[in-house]
Amino acid sequence: MNNLLPALGVPQQLQTFEPAHQAALDRLTSINPASYARSRNALDGAVTGLSPYLTHGLLTMQDAARNVAGRHALGFADKLVFEFGWREFFQHVWGHQKNPDAILQDMHGQLPWRGRYADTMPSDIREGRTGVPVIDNAVRILYSTGYLHNHMRMWLASYVVHLRKVHWRAGADWLYGHLIDGDLASNHLSWQWVAGTFSSKPYLFNAENVMRYAPAGARRAWDCSGTIVDQSYEALDDFARNRPAVGTEPGTHEKVIEPPLLSHFYESNEALAHTNRAQTAIENVANRNLELVHPWSLSQRSEGNTLRIGVIHQPAHTAWLWSEKRWRFVLSAMAQVTDEIWTGDLAQLDVKGAPNVTAQATLFPQYRTALARMARLTPSPRLLPNPSMACRSFSKFYERAQRDAGQFSDLL
Ligand SMILES: Cc1cc2nc3c(=O)[nH]c(=O)nc-3n(C[C@H](O)[C@H](O)[C@H](O)COP(=O)(O)OP(=O)(O)OC[C@H]3O[C@@H](n4cnc5c(N)ncnc54)[C@H](O)[C@@H]3O)c2cc1C
Repeated sequence: MNNLLPALGVPQQLQTFEPAHQAALDRLTSINPASYARSRNALDGAVTGLSPYLTHGLLTMQDAARNVAGRHALGFADKLVFEFGWREFFQHVWGHQKNPDAILQDMHGQLPWRGRYADTMPSDIREGRTGVPVIDNAVRILYSTGYLHNHMRMWLASYVVHLRKVHWRAGADWLYGHLIDGDLASNHLSWQWVAGTFSSKPYLFNAENVMRYAPAGARRAWDCSGTIVDQSYEALDDFARNRPAVGTEPGTHEKVIEPPLLSHFYESNEALAHTNRAQTAIENVANRNLELVHPWSLSQRSEGNTLRIGVIHQPAHTAWLWSEKRWRFVLSAMAQVTDEIWTGDLAQLDVKGAPNVTAQATLFPQYRTALARMARLTPSPRLLPNPSMACRSFSKFYERAQRDAGQFSDLL
């Protein structure tokens, strides 16, 4: 796959993601909100590549906004802040559900087709051999980098649901596992937005749309002429609503091997050394504050005498598998900001010796309940105010958040 990414025009900064706080800071310095607004829809546009860092808490959105605002004028009208808002909107929706699993089921609208959607991902999609270049390219880029540009995620999801008639949940679970920025709220609610169960209509795209945003130096590799997506929007809408699943394009197509998804990852590598499964009590903790650092709270250490223990709560990862790439990203970043990493079932971890145990709140189901039982939860950081009333639409959320915030500069 060595030449794959340049051949597909994937920008250098979206090919690898170093799991370090400094790497996130370096990305911030190159953000220009005006170029972002102008080009973010293009596959080689000036997107930030911040999502793995924001998802895992190496960087907060407030830190990111403050940093950019130090060099450029920035406010609610900026596309960058608006897109930051989408992430916080999805968290807002998730946080307002009585049952956190609610976002894993159809939220409100109906799928457009009345037939039965498949509940597994077809092997030709997983193996990148559908014969539709935009889909096969996206699958290869996903496996190779753990990241996809927003447009690729939308195209992939639209093809899977509306043309292949696979239920969005099967596609969302599969994509979540392979992304290093996989976030249940942003991912599963975006799939629902594309599918039409969290929006008013299905999201559709065609070959012309792909060409418009294809990387300037690699347009031929993205040319989908003559394939199922080379149709008018009216014809695609008819497919989405009235036609059964389409199959693989005619001809033979080269396949790619799907990386395995894993419930755990151990390695005899100093940087990732962390296994402490046999031990259930944290030692040397008397008279010290103890902070439990989970995979979504990998912030820098602050000053003080706090003992920071990275925690991998195994039941959560048995339910939600990750690629090796993501495990490496998380464990490496965790090792840099904690004294030790503990892996096991949090129900078995004895923290009674510690006078004060804290952890950042998370909505991730299994962690949320396990941590609430043993630690005082601190709020997970946000940029925008979180409206107390549940907002169903992004526009309502953004309007209320602006009203509650007053000046943008007050948020920084
Ligand atoms: C089907 C589908 C699945 C997705 N799954 C995820 C996911 O698992 N994790 C995830 O973080 N994002 C997800 N997104 C949203 C979006 O695609 C990514 O956040 C974005 O592409 C990450 O790249 P970036 O950091 O370069 O984004 P930029 O465009 O540089 O944006 C900066 C930041 O703003 C936020 N953001 C931007 N666009 C969106 C958006 N549409 N929705 C929510 N937040 C946004 C992200 O935190 C992002 O890091 C998904 C979108 C779709 C359509």
